[in-house]
Amino acid sequence: MNSYSQKYYSGSKFKRSISKKTLEVINPSNLRVLGSIAIQNKKEVNKVISNLKKGQSKWKKLSALERSKELHNVANRIDNSNLKELAKTMSQEVGKPITEAYGEIANVSSAIRYFAEMARNEAGNIAGTTQSESLQMETKEPMGISAHILPFNFPILIMIWTVAASLAAGNSVIIKPSEQASFTSLIFMKFFNQLSANVVSCLTGDATTGKAIIDHKDVNIVSFTGSAETAKKVYQSCAENFKPCHLEGGGSDYMIISDKTDIDFAATAAITSSFHLSGQICTSTEHILVHSKIYNKFKRALTKKLNALRVGDGLKKNELGPLSTEAAFNKAKNIINDAANKGALITCHKDSDHIESLKGYFICPAIIEKTKSNMLCEKDEMFAPFVTIEPYIKISEAVKKVNKSQFGLGFNMITKDLEEAHYVSRNIETGLVWINNPLIDNDALPFGGLKKSGIGRELGKMGLDAFRQTKMVIIDNEQKIHEWWYPYSEKQFRT
Ligand code: NAD
Repeated sequence: MNSYSQKYYSGSKFKRSISKKTLEVINPSNLRVLGSIAIQNKKEVNKVISNLKKGQSKWKKLSALERSKELHNVANRIDNSNLKELAKTMSQEVGKPITEAYGEIANVSSAIRYFAEMARNEAGNIAGTTQSESLQMETKEPMGISAHILPFNFPILIMIWTVAASLAAGNSVIIKPSEQASFTSLIFMKFFNQLSANVVSCLTGDATTGKAIIDHKDVNIVSFTGSAETAKKVYQSCAENFKPCHLEGGGSDYMIISDKTDIDFAATAAITSSFHLSGQICTSTEHILVHSKIYNKFKRALTKKLNALRVGDGLKKNELGPLSTEAAFNKAKNIINDAANKGALITCHKDSDHIESLKGYFICPAIIEKTKSNMLCEKDEMFAPFVTIEPYIKISEAVKKVNKSQFGLGFNMITKDLEEAHYVSRNIETGLVWINNPLIDNDALPFGGLKKSGIGRELGKMGLDAFRQTKMVIIDNEQKIHEWWYPYSEKQFRT
């Protein structure tokens, strides 16, 4: 049993939940029970939030420099720690290959340091005045308590993208990790236990816990990352409470592969972008449009690379682990069966029999061709190790097809043609565009999507401002009676 079973984190300590409702956490690689988490209820949510409120009143009074020093200390502790327990638990809970778990954690401290300095660098703006001798400005202030409702796939990095921004802005935070990544998230909490104020809490649970947090009157802003379907429910809850929120929903990204490319480069970029984390990244490439001139050559190269992928337990030397849960596994099975039944051409990994015989939620990675719009693989986010491929002739037609999507998160183009690169980056309707460099992000640049993929941005200045409120302040040090004030003069009545 995982030692964090039924624990939560509040007041810089791990505590045992009093909730009787629990949920087993299953290792998707071997179906063994790792432990159980508490489904925390309203009563526990209320208690934790009342502590966070007290903590925030101290935290917001610190200078930006003091808060920054404390956040750098969190980053230093991460950089100087042995991260084996954290990475191993992430791999066991989520099914993520251990190299990728370490890779995720390696990007965490830079995001904390970025926001620690950003909040010091800019705290508002002084405007040119409309009246002489008046100080007219916009100040940025903390919002109070922010809630962070999180998905399973990048439990630490995605948490830190918004939690670091919110703490740097002077808020306290309540974190509700995914049911499937709660132990990983709890282990990470130890890095916050030297903060001078009680400003970080982590509560485990499901949709009911998430909703209780959102509905709490002292939660001032909600940050959600997860599927588009849940994003809609969170948006509705926020609307009922008249509460600001920003939403990072799902995606079903396209990649366009031009004929002006090295084929091996294109196939390597495509295999990584489509199958990384078994296709369970919000910006996984789910659909590839390939120039008809190179379609057959590209398909041969992609199939070769698909067959070279090693599928198995994330703690061993494999590129692809299992899907995260039984529900995700069943959804993926349904997608591939539906495509096969409706006439699609499916190329599975050469070891499909072996992969399907593994104990765990392993599914055979596959390339799907000759799809139709009524197939599940074309209708929604697949979030599985499948990619559709189809030929295109004119780039403008390919761009049109991409823009028809209900999602608008990321987009990739593989080309050596600069003119083509500029054309697509100008005309594609997504929040993220990558040319020849899939799946990369930058702490200093805004991350997020259009349409059903979300509202708002994480990271960059927008990611910090999401957790600050803006106040217009006008200060006149001299007590001057202005000519338009009461009572009006005779001259004013005449005009
Ligand atoms: P999910 O939507 O199932 O769950 C996300 C979180 O919401 C969980 O913590 C869950 O407990 C909570 N939740 C569920 N119902 C709720 C409700 N009614 N009220 C409040 N909270 C509720 O997502 P998941 O399966 O964990 O993650 C995968 C999804 O996340 C994919 O769709 C993926 O594309 C998306 N994602 C998006 C981004 C992005 O940046 N846009 C990043 C990562 C993942």
